[in-house]
Amino acid sequence: MMMRLKILFTLLCIVSIAMAQQPKKMAEKFFPDPLYVTPSFHKKGYVKYDELIKYIEKTIAGKDYISLQYIGNTQKGKQIPAVVFGKSNNPKSKVMLTGRVHGDEPGSTEALLLVIDKLVNDPTFASLVENLEIAILPMVNIDGGDKLKRQTANGLDLNRDMSKLATPENQALRKFFNEFAPDVELDLHEYNPFRIDYLKFGSFGVSGYADVMFLYSENPNYQTPLRNFVSNTYLPLLEDALNRDRLTYCKYFTSTQVNGEVQLNMGGGSPRSSATAFGLANTVSLLIEIRGTNIGKANFKRRVYTGYLIALNTLKMADEKSAEIKEAIRQSTESKADIVVTQRRTEELRKIPFIDIQKNGLIDVEIPVRDAAQRKDGIVRKRPFAYALLPNQTVLADKLRDLGILVETLDKDRNMDAEAYTISDYRESEEKFEGFYEQIVKTEVASKKVNLPKGSFIVKMDQRNSNLAAVVLEPEAENGFVRYHVLPVKLGEELPVYRIINNY
Ligand SMILES: [Zn+2]
Repeated sequence: MMMRLKILFTLLCIVSIAMAQQPKKMAEKFFPDPLYVTPSFHKKGYVKYDELIKYIEKTIAGKDYISLQYIGNTQKGKQIPAVVFGKSNNPKSKVMLTGRVHGDEPGSTEALLLVIDKLVNDPTFASLVENLEIAILPMVNIDGGDKLKRQTANGLDLNRDMSKLATPENQALRKFFNEFAPDVELDLHEYNPFRIDYLKFGSFGVSGYADVMFLYSENPNYQTPLRNFVSNTYLPLLEDALNRDRLTYCKYFTSTQVNGEVQLNMGGGSPRSSATAFGLANTVSLLIEIRGTNIGKANFKRRVYTGYLIALNTLKMADEKSAEIKEAIRQSTESKADIVVTQRRTEELRKIPFIDIQKNGLIDVEIPVRDAAQRKDGIVRKRPFAYALLPNQTVLADKLRDLGILVETLDKDRNMDAEAYTISDYRESEEKFEGFYEQIVKTEVASKKVNLPKGSFIVKMDQRNSNLAAVVLEPEAENGFVRYHVLPVKLGEELPVYRIINNY
């Protein structure tokens, strides 16, 4: 009897060992996937701020060419980290990578932590570290990030605030950008593939299909040499890399409802958002949206890998194409192109691929699309020699400086030939946008002699940031200082902002 039991027990042991599942914690501790060493792959949920800082400190320890810098504080007093790789005294290009501008897009943080790990630990990437200066900001919106909320602590959306800089986070981010002065800026986001608007299509709703969407600036004041570089050189390199790994991509779009009808807004050119706000500083600039928000941790490796792949190929591009980038920046800075103040998108019906949720297959959805590439220019004005502001406009002058724009002051009274704006039409938006009512104006522009007193502010247009200056100072501009209530105005009033047409 005992013998039989012993045999039975032994058999049971053999069977149970043969069938044993390897405990998850054993796999994670001893056999992690070599690519996915970053913190969120080894915990429930996502890396929190304190863990992120510890992870960075541990990863860069002992490397004197890497520094962990703090660029400023969030509303809750958390210090925003930037990891700066500065091995070269004379870098071929300077690249800035930002993530988690929206707190509920954790794949962006993780992808950048993976980039940091690879640059530190993988000898394959040594030449990138040798040749480039690289700043990586893996978590800009920390207060939102720790709560997985899109907005900052006071409910503002950082990627609607890049021209107004109403938040301390964006002030810090822009200050760092201005001082670092990158040639290339990449901003990583995730998008929600299950929008409520998409329930109207397919059998029982559709889902966005692309692993990643590209948002590059189509603002007409983003100068042609840089725009061409992004379209003809940068994006094809990224597309090749994604194709090799069978990852899918498309041009960025989002949905909106107009009179109850769902439309897609495709592409973008608003300086309130990063791609254009940084692009108009004459920088190679791109925002990417990885398919990720609202699906929890599903496809997390794929999402992180996608962001990592794009960031890595951006660095390679900045290394290999550095001469072309410098030339595009130089030509853009010397451009004398007119300033396009307003524009209107035209609408057309298009067939856009989505995943039909019930059929689990791709379908084409016919839908009105307003593509930033299909626009008509509205108000176009000659590029002035400079803009001038009266001495009492210190708020505007400070805001311009925060945006990285050089502002001089007159050391004596000057009488100048100028163009003055008078507000000929004024209304406020019916609803608040990001906490304020927009001022929607029309102006009449008249040539006149203007007496500019000593202390007036002068913004000359022969600077790298001139296009950004124009799009915030022209009163009708869609994300400008008048529209965004930085400069309160009244009907019939002459603005304290002037266009100085000729050198003086
Ligand atoms: Zn986002």
